[in-house]
Amino acid sequence: MHKIVFISSIDYKQKQTWLKAINQLLPNDTILLSEQVDVSKRHEIDIAIVANPDPIDLAKYPKLVWVQSLWAGVEKLVSTFTTNKTKIKLVRLVDPHLAKTMAESVLAWTLYLQRNMPKYSKQQLAKKWHQLPCTASSELQVSILGAGELAMAAFKTLKLLDYKLNSWNRSPKTIEGVISYTGEGGLNALLNKTDILINLLPLTEKTYHLLNRKTLCKLPKGAKLINFSRGGVVDSNALIELLNDEHLEHAILDVFDEEPLDQNSAIWHHSKITVLPHISAPTNMTTAAKIVANNINVYRTNGVIPKSVNFSTGY
Ligand code: NAP
Repeated sequence: MHKIVFISSIDYKQKQTWLKAINQLLPNDTILLSEQVDVSKRHEIDIAIVANPDPIDLAKYPKLVWVQSLWAGVEKLVSTFTTNKTKIKLVRLVDPHLAKTMAESVLAWTLYLQRNMPKYSKQQLAKKWHQLPCTASSELQVSILGAGELAMAAFKTLKLLDYKLNSWNRSPKTIEGVISYTGEGGLNALLNKTDILINLLPLTEKTYHLLNRKTLCKLPKGAKLINFSRGGVVDSNALIELLNDEHLEHAILDVFDEEPLDQNSAIWHHSKITVLPHISAPTNMTTAAKIVANNINVYRTNGVIPKSVNFSTGY
């Protein structure tokens, strides 16, 4: 029987539920919580399953070959692994169900902005009966930064409604019905024409504060922003300034530099910001457990580690 360690800062009850869900799908492995592994047995462990782990705990396992994250975003682990120059592979969660959930969120909040919901909420508070112009989806330029697993599912959903679609990624991509841009020039061209900008970029050295005053200013007056990936991609001070200056009309923020968002943050009561508590695409335990177990079973059968994070690009 192989042993796998589960290292996580989530609460004990949640850990037990995860353990049960994955263990029942692994015929040849036993998953143990970090605290259950005897010090003398740590060298027997080659795989760690992690969810927000303390890097110090990971370093206790000298023979780790790869680490499976239960989350899709792994920027904190990438930074630890890069600093330690480790040879351990890091596998993030890639789950079609998660991508579908994100696609639902992208569609829901795109429609919310398209159909003027922020303005109608304010009108209701003021008991104001006023019908605003209704822009057709076929007239709206909707752009997604990052055309990865999540964005590809989102494009599929957005296509059903005829939006004019654009993407920006590192390498050139052909996506049917989507104009694809790369590089700084490509980003500027995309921003210049975008009505609703959706950020789905991973947080890396290259994407940190990519959406700053200079880049956000390139959006046309009245544009809207949805940030569903990581808070660090957006310079929130610049965003607030541009909302206050009426250059941007509204922002939907699901992710922040610090989570939970600080009680004293001005963002909570900004009238042009909708705050969401990191809910655009939560991990689904049932589907994620199947994917994680399958990754491990394939590795036990033929030694193949699933596609892992590229530490030089950071994602
Ligand atoms: P992914 O498959 O790795 O896709 C990343 C995309 O970003 C790729 O298209 C990549 O371009 C592009 N990219 C990366 N760095 C770039 C750069 N410097 N310039 C231009 N494009 C760049 O990631 P994913 O699975 O779609 O997930 C995206 C992010 O969503 C995660 O990292 C995580 O932070 C976030 N997330 C949030 C939630 C939530 O609930 N809020 C849930 C899950 C995930 P190439 O195609 O050229 O490689």
